[in-house]
Amino acid sequence: MIKAFEVFDTMRTANAGRLKEAREQGKKFVGTYCTFCPEELIIAAGAAPFGLCGTKEDPIASAEQVLPRNLCPLIKSSYGFAATGTCPYFQASDLIIGETTCDGKKKMFEVMNDLKPVHVMQLPHDPEAAASLDLWKSELNRLKDRLEEVFQTEITEDKLRAAMRLKNRETTAKRRVHDLNQRVPAVISGIQVLTVTWMSGFALNKEEIIEALEAYVDEALVKADEGLAFGDQNTPRILVTGVPVGLGSEKVLRLVEDNGGAVVGLENCTGYKTLRLMTDPDAADPMEALARKYLGIPCSCMSPNKGRMELLSDMITDFTVDGVIDLTWQACHTYNIESYTVAELVKQKHNLPFLQLETDYSQSDVQTLNVRIAAFMEMIQK
Ligand code: SF4
Ligand code: SF4
Repeated sequence: MIKAFEVFDTMRTANAGRLKEAREQGKKFVGTYCTFCPEELIIAAGAAPFGLCGTKEDPIASAEQVLPRNLCPLIKSSYGFAATGTCPYFQASDLIIGETTCDGKKKMFEVMNDLKPVHVMQLPHDPEAAASLDLWKSELNRLKDRLEEVFQTEITEDKLRAAMRLKNRETTAKRRVHDLNQRVPAVISGIQVLTVTWMSGFALNKEEIIEALEAYVDEALVKADEGLAFGDQNTPRILVTGVPVGLGSEKVLRLVEDNGGAVVGLENCTGYKTLRLMTDPDAADPMEALARKYLGIPCSCMSPNKGRMELLSDMITDFTVDGVIDLTWQACHTYNIESYTVAELVKQKHNLPFLQLETDYSQSDVQTLNVRIAAFMEMIQK
């Protein structure tokens, strides 16, 4: 048992209780729904960002009174939490930031704007085009203006460079958590990696969370040297890629680990997808450095999206992976279509077993998923 885990286990609830007091002390918050949101600008404006993507089924029925049923559960859950007033973090946010990533999300933001002001960034979708960099940089400047206006502050270059340093430190600390499982056998379960990193999104203060993440990894490394492990040399090592996953939508991860596997790698955007992307705080043009960083996120809403294939290949090697599961939320067209390319990469280039699972947040298909995952694990028993 890693003692430093306790702080993450209870973070969402504990920090919800601290929100009121923090606001009374003048603390400002910004709600975000995607890793494309440049948190550095929010920090430089003196506010704290929260990741608000909905990962629970509870508010979906309410969301369906406004949104179509045939929509990605993440979008419905995100809107449902906001509409039902059941997310204290949404309630505490002074501003919401969205991006034109997939069609469902960008149209949902139009409706969400009736509940609270949503600043939507226009995301270009070709990461390699020169025009994309110009457009994205101008969108970063538009966000900077909006933050300065809402928070009555000036985002100076010095504040921005300091925020870039802070965000780099947080990224490094999160990556160290994932990298624990490059060891064979794995040090911790995939569920624990998810809990630690996902809960970090509810931190009220970046310094606090960086310290907690570093303490966690330092303790885990000592315990690993003393023999702490999840599974053994023969445990099938699974890489999960695809859509974002958080606590409440982690059923596939649980089923893999209940069936004797170890989820050693999480490639999705709540996992490793952004963790190799850093900025140079001393860059001559820090806004351009930021723009380049975020355009490099290999999400399926980008086209072409070669970066995801490169990342997957590296992770398959670095995490000594035995099989890949590609998770798709129902009605997510971009990840669903891109699954074909991922399957080719995994089977042809790496000669590894591959399984695509399409599901939602409900428990209604757990039996079927369990049968498919059990068969997959049997196939790769070492
Ligand atoms: S999958 Fe892509 S669009 Fe969806 S939250 Fe992650 S980065 Fe954003
Ligand atoms: S999982 Fe797919 S459909 Fe859902 S928000 Fe992300 S990109 Fe959009």
